[in-house]
Amino acid sequence: MTTGSEIAEIRNSVRQLCEKYGEDYWLELDRNNDYPTEFVAELTASGFLTVLIPEEYGGAGLGVLEAAAVMEEVCRSGAHAGACHAQMYVMGSVLRHGNSEQKSRYLPKIASGELRLQSFGVTEPTTGTDTTSLKTTATRDGDVYRINGQKVWISRIQHSDLMVLLARTSPKDQVAKKTDGLSAFIVDVKQAEGNGLEIRSIESMINHHSCELFFDDLEVARENLLGEEGKGFKVILDGMNAERILIAAECVGDGRYFIDKARDYASEREVFGQPIGKNQGVQFPIARCYAEVEAAGLMVDKAARMFDAGEPCGAEANMAKMLASEASWRAGDVCMQTHGGFAFAKEYHIERKFRETRLYQIAPISTNLILSYIGEHVLGMPRSF
Ligand SMILES: Cc1cc2nc3c(=O)[nH]c(=O)nc-3n(C[C@H](O)[C@H](O)[C@H](O)COP(=O)(O)OP(=O)(O)OC[C@H]3O[C@@H](n4cnc5c(N)ncnc54)[C@H](O)[C@@H]3O)c2cc1C
Repeated sequence: MTTGSEIAEIRNSVRQLCEKYGEDYWLELDRNNDYPTEFVAELTASGFLTVLIPEEYGGAGLGVLEAAAVMEEVCRSGAHAGACHAQMYVMGSVLRHGNSEQKSRYLPKIASGELRLQSFGVTEPTTGTDTTSLKTTATRDGDVYRINGQKVWISRIQHSDLMVLLARTSPKDQVAKKTDGLSAFIVDVKQAEGNGLEIRSIESMINHHSCELFFDDLEVARENLLGEEGKGFKVILDGMNAERILIAAECVGDGRYFIDKARDYASEREVFGQPIGKNQGVQFPIARCYAEVEAAGLMVDKAARMFDAGEPCGAEANMAKMLASEASWRAGDVCMQTHGGFAFAKEYHIERKFRETRLYQIAPISTNLILSYIGEHVLGMPRSF
């Protein structure tokens, strides 16, 4: 178990790395819809993006607690962790469900940066949150599966060598449970593109490199099936708690970023002959956001420790994601208000972070779906869908 001072050291080193990529770097990328290739390469080379990969495969072999500290610091620096965070949790599906051949083929290369596993394909345009109704099919044909269907909002695929894909191998009406009959595959993106996979960019509110995918008889080798055929839902679900905790940590980082900015500006900006932060109408909302972000941070910490101890943490991971995404959004709103008109100037960077942090009340899972999980699975209330 890493000690508090070791985590502080990790935080400090991540901060130093991020300082080299200041806010103007991120503003420029946002303007041009470019990808932070150098930043991601340095985060990988320094070992921070691969902290969750066990030492035997070339990673640091640390837990979600340490990974969350990395992601929080990245976001607190003003960066957009959405450009690279998936590598941390998608890798977990290969680690926990891959066979030994898959693990030794992929994990050392992901740890060294030779292969990027930044993409996972679940969401579909016609079924959305109702994952078990997804329509993309994978049909066995000798030594290959043939993939047909469509995905939407699949992020970073143009900056990834591999994608973990979820598709139906048995129709929903022919399986005992609706979560059965789904299978997960490791897709070699570079090989697939143009050979049954078409990728189209989606122009979107944030610089997230999300795409639509069209599969037309894409062949995926049988050896690329991840886990058991028909049990792919579990492969994906297992990674989801880690994903939620890490994204919650990013929101805590965003929240702290907004609070620092609001506090500094409110203390410096003088109107009516005094700093605006002297007015309690300006000061109190910032103080309230501070309390909310700190509370969300405690839930992230609790969920991460439970995850690392191997305890069931679905409720905590969901609550951490919901509380942190709402706290960071409110902190962003207060930061905007504190800056008055200047909040709208891109050179102040706030409007970019404001757009970026908004995503996390919708993806990877929306607030309503978290509330329904708590209502049904934690409080035992009736099922709504
Ligand atoms: C920038 C971006 C990046 C993304 N990256 C990825 C990615 O890399 N891979 C991937 O697979 N997906 C990705 N997604 C998809 C994301 O996970 C989904 O958008 C999200 O899960 C919500 O699904 P949906 O958009 O289909 O919304 P819907 O399922 O259509 O829901 C719309 C709204 O209705 C509400 N709603 C739906 N059903 C109910 C109900 N029963 N009760 C109450 N409320 C309900 C939801 O809460 C939501 O607010 C990304 C999305 C975005 C915007």
